[in-house]
Amino acid sequence: MPQIDESQIRVILLDIEGTTTPIDFVYQTLFPYSSRRLESFLREHAHDPEIQSLIQELRGQHVTDERNGLEPPAWQDHPEDAQLPSSVTYGQWLIARDSKCMPLKTLQGKIWQQGFASGELHGEVYPDVPIAFQRWRRQKRMICIYSSGSTLAQQNLFRTTASGDLTPYITAFFDTRMGAKSEVESYKKIAASLSYEPKQFLFISDAPKEVEAARSAGMQAILCERDPESSSSRCQSDAIHSFEGLIPD
Ligand SMILES: [Mg+2]
Repeated sequence: MPQIDESQIRVILLDIEGTTTPIDFVYQTLFPYSSRRLESFLREHAHDPEIQSLIQELRGQHVTDERNGLEPPAWQDHPEDAQLPSSVTYGQWLIARDSKCMPLKTLQGKIWQQGFASGELHGEVYPDVPIAFQRWRRQKRMICIYSSGSTLAQQNLFRTTASGDLTPYITAFFDTRMGAKSEVESYKKIAASLSYEPKQFLFISDAPKEVEAARSAGMQAILCERDPESSSSRCQSDAIHSFEGLIPD
């Protein structure tokens, strides 16, 4: 178990992908679902002003991608009904390359919400997660989420797990509106938004870069390696493999 000062910790800040939830759930279930449903979703909501402005944001992102030489699929503005197929093709291209751009994440969140609401999608968490949530709340510690999936998608995921609705355990959900997860500043912002000192946080993620950024912001942070076989960490004792026994009663 890595060294942490438990007595200081008031807030446990958790990554989702690879930390509370198998990465496969995101790549094998959520991403293909949003890719498959993108066209029908955009058609159904073609007259919704919010969706129209998201498509315009996608258009802007497309310009940026072209300028950066990423060679996205061509976007046709004319005739007007070419816009929708263009946004579908480009959106699917973004999904395939795991883009974290805001309009895409917002659209995906909305598509997933329909899937969660209809019961087609269920959130997945590792079995030690609900048990740890109960334990940490019993200890009067706050549990918060910081993930690049939109806060809407995060809430849906935790609301529909096989262990039931886990959202009552969670105080706050943060997404990339706080900044990128590899940026030190993002962690400072999150701490400030909850009026706690960074050192009162324990951040847990499977991404060494994120762990480093949180540490540089002054948080306590540990690496979570759900699959010890494919371990990338130089030092095994730096990582946990589940939440079991982490801050015990
Ligand atoms: Mg992760």
